[in-house]
Amino acid sequence: MTEAVFPSSMADYWYCPAKIVNMQLYGSIKTEDTERGSVYHEEVTVKIIKKLGPLRKVKIETVYDVMRHAYYNISGALSDGHVLANSEDTVLFRAVSPELKIAGMPDKADCRNGKEPILMDFKTTKNLPSEAWASNSIQLGAYMIGVERLGFRQTCGVIRYVLESNGSEYREFKIYLDNYLRDEVKKTAELVRSILNSGDPRPTSNPRKCAACSYRDLCQWSLFEEEVALGT
Ligand code: SF4
Repeated sequence: MTEAVFPSSMADYWYCPAKIVNMQLYGSIKTEDTERGSVYHEEVTVKIIKKLGPLRKVKIETVYDVMRHAYYNISGALSDGHVLANSEDTVLFRAVSPELKIAGMPDKADCRNGKEPILMDFKTTKNLPSEAWASNSIQLGAYMIGVERLGFRQTCGVIRYVLESNGSEYREFKIYLDNYLRDEVKKTAELVRSILNSGDPRPTSNPRKCAACSYRDLCQWSLFEEEVALGT
């Protein structure tokens, strides 16, 4: 039985539940778009981490270790007025809720206000949206619940959409951790867990989603061929 759910899988669920099964079968598939997103993420997070100076390595073995490590680093950043970030090589904090069985790694926590860490998640995109997408709000909501569980107040977080074509234009949206978002996070975590255990998703019926999906050539439910046929 699968237990832990990643907030990124919760975002995938909102895009298309079949992505959860494909991730289990094929792992993460890199595309030009995801590569560009990773490059932007690393550029930003590595700069933030460098500003913190030399860091000490710690051994993490248990969920308790993960939570204690995150608590220690966030507490320190709040006291010192720092910004924390997570890169591919350096993880400074994770968001964990043992009760909801959620564990994930937010991109950044701005602790400069000294009161509460403001989480930020980066998304690269072809067009800047006029409002935050539900999938991204759920993911950020899961992170906020995980950081709140560590003992830190969480009022809101930020999603930053960055234009893929130039990497400098962006639009940000504040996401509030209200009761609606809390409920959606809990419901989505259960739905993802049930798909992980059953392998039986309800795939999207939108061929345009398949056309843009990294699993479109591998997925047994892919409508990508139909999309091509529709376009002819
Ligand atoms: S190819 Fe289509 S059905 Fe398959 S995971 Fe992607 S969006 Fe879902």
